[in-house]
Amino acid sequence: MGEASEQQRQRTAGEARRLSAQCPACSLHELVPVYLHRDERGRWRQLKDPDALPDDALELDACPVCFGIWFDQGELDTLGDAEVDPALLKTLLGRSAHRMCPRGHGFMNEHALPGLIRTPIDRCPRCRGLWLDGDERHALATSSTREGQEDRSMKIAKRGFIWAAQILTQLPVEVENPARGTPWVVYLFGGALLVLYQLSVFGVLYARDWALLGAAARADPRLLYTALTHVWFHADVAHLLVNLYFLYVFGDNVEHLFGRLRFVALLLGAALSGALLQVLLARQGGAPVIGASGAIAGVIAAYLWLFPRARLLQTVPFIFIQIKIPAWVYVGVWIGCQLVMAVISSEANFAWYAHIGGFMFGAALTPVVVRWRQRRVAEQVRVPSAAFFLNKPPELVRRARAQDRRERERRSKSSSP
Ligand SMILES: [Zn+2]
Ligand SMILES: [Zn+2]
Repeated sequence: MGEASEQQRQRTAGEARRLSAQCPACSLHELVPVYLHRDERGRWRQLKDPDALPDDALELDACPVCFGIWFDQGELDTLGDAEVDPALLKTLLGRSAHRMCPRGHGFMNEHALPGLIRTPIDRCPRCRGLWLDGDERHALATSSTREGQEDRSMKIAKRGFIWAAQILTQLPVEVENPARGTPWVVYLFGGALLVLYQLSVFGVLYARDWALLGAAARADPRLLYTALTHVWFHADVAHLLVNLYFLYVFGDNVEHLFGRLRFVALLLGAALSGALLQVLLARQGGAPVIGASGAIAGVIAAYLWLFPRARLLQTVPFIFIQIKIPAWVYVGVWIGCQLVMAVISSEANFAWYAHIGGFMFGAALTPVVVRWRQRRVAEQVRVPSAAFFLNKPPELVRRARAQDRRERERRSKSSSP
């Protein structure tokens, strides 16, 4: 008892006062707190454990999906030990089309940072907070390195924007992108693929019996059940491991944003539409197809749509160096692996149509899920952010809103005959 519980109480009270806000850029997630602290050498470091915060830790708000970050007024000053240059205010471009201040002050204004980044940054005219997109943070950080500043450094310094660049190199620019929560569907699906592969190796089940017969199923619709069964079997361990790896790399983030049921729908739908395309277009006498590649092609399409600029932090096997790889490189590697698999495995034909069909399904479903999720996040933050501004407990606001709704419904019922 005593000190620890007192700290805990204060923190909980602080959380109740925390503004909950939707990401103004991608709208796909609430902003989440990022805690920064100066280490002994004076560099800002991201703290991983929010339960062990030092008193002077700084809290910023970042989006875990698009990597954008929000600075309340003064936060950049604190980070950079400098005042924001008023020259920034003279570079007003106009009102940003759709981005709202996360603090609820309506539309933000766009400001140019000439010489540093091409895209304008967003600033709220009322609370003077700043929003930086994920790639803007990257650009600012690069421009503050010696190479990035060559022959532009004077110009930049004159304009007084160097503070932003300096600060951002000290910041952990990469707020990592760990999926939140356990990706149960990824684990279960991957586990099932492993078990069924083992069963087929030991001869309990014969993968051949369940393989997708393209042209044959076109001739005999009774064979269409193989569109569902071929997913679960793999011809060899290399093919299985490639699929499991890419399911794991992309699947957890996609499952997090989709939600479990929609993610299951994505896997099944991608596998089925890949199979159907294979049935429609496969050559007569083509080899039977097995494997979860069609389903995983759907996951990859969803990932590319959701995280087009994601850089994946990847530990290189065997040498254990962490490097950052853009998502499109991964996709290239996936296609390469599939091609190699087609050449080295004698049984499986390279099922281009199954992959394309799965990819198309993912590309079609994702925009729908994105719109659903944006609406849901907006709904989620509405009550707590109203409570924040009205300075009332969230429960009171929720009850008042529910009462309003009932009132409206009653009125619309009594007005209609
Ligand atoms: Zn975002
Ligand atoms: Zn504002």
